Amino acid sequence: MSLTQIIQNIRAKQKIKYNPPDRPTAVWTGKDLLDGKPITALTVIFQTSGCRWSNCTMCGYIYDSARDAPSHDDLMKQFENAMSRCKDEEIILKIFTSGSFLDDGEISQATRTEILSRLNKDDRVKKVIAETRPEYVTDEKVRDAVSALGKKFEVAIGLETSNDMIRKESINKGFSFSDFIRASEVAGRYNATVKAYLMMKPPFISEGFAMEDMIQSIKDAAPFAGTISMNLCNVQKGTLVEEMSERGDYRPPWLWSAVEALKKGKESSPETVIMSDPVAAGSMRGPHNCGKCDSDVAEAIRIFSTTQDTAVFKNLDCDCKELWKKVIELEDFTFGAPLVK
Ligand code: SF4
Ligand SMILES: [Zn+2]
Repeated sequence: MSLTQIIQNIRAKQKIKYNPPDRPTAVWTGKDLLDGKPITALTVIFQTSGCRWSNCTMCGYIYDSARDAPSHDDLMKQFENAMSRCKDEEIILKIFTSGSFLDDGEISQATRTEILSRLNKDDRVKKVIAETRPEYVTDEKVRDAVSALGKKFEVAIGLETSNDMIRKESINKGFSFSDFIRASEVAGRYNATVKAYLMMKPPFISEGFAMEDMIQSIKDAAPFAGTISMNLCNVQKGTLVEEMSERGDYRPPWLWSAVEALKKGKESSPETVIMSDPVAAGSMRGPHNCGKCDSDVAEAIRIFSTTQDTAVFKNLDCDCKELWKKVIELEDFTFGAPLVK
């Protein structure tokens, strides 16, 4: 059975919960960097018909999508609802759709243009970042988006890794590194910047291999992305990763591996902004160390993301660091099966 078939069988058992179609799936504020300075980031997850691909091993976002495709008016109400939560004078707006903002099947050209034109007139908004798969990054779409917005526009692409074999066999992502490079070149032609999301430790690979893959991926992606955001894999509901985790066949990454990847990544690509927000850090479903040091290490990762200064990692230590080193050394011999919880 193919990985796609296995994932579709898992998906078929899940329920999509009802959310009124004129409400976004989620809206929250956080911090990001604009020209090297911290700024408030308003993130909105639009409720759309969802990702057309929907076959990735670790992704549970598909369950955030709408039961029926929302209309133009519904989507505009979602937009107004999200913007009404903006209390700051200057923001970056991050647009997610649990899929692709540039896919006409999720957000039509007319809706996209209206959203971006309204943002053009909103002086609080300094930059817009929109997530999309690379196949929707075409000359026409980027040109139209940039011209409607009239300010800084960034396409954010879930590249996950520069290694085509890991992307295919561990993630089942359905595109290649060369697709990402092509999308980055298209964006560059219209002065849109690129953010690459990388995924630390998808299933089926050992801790050490995952860490080395992240270090290599940062190096490989940096020439094509001004910003790299490192996601630490967490166990999402209704995914193959969740089934594997329940069987004891998957453990999210150690936070020490993330620290090491950030240190080495920054060393190899000093001009690239490298960020990470360790979602669910310290829990068994999220990236974790021993339980005692998790919150300190996660906080250091967040501080690094807004300062880009690896000095924050200097005095971090815990007894579990020796165990993590052993895991890195020995897990290759178990073919990625976790040695400790
Ligand atoms: S990770 Fe992205 S491309 Fe993959 S299924 Fe989820 S939303 Fe779609
Ligand atoms: Zn510890």
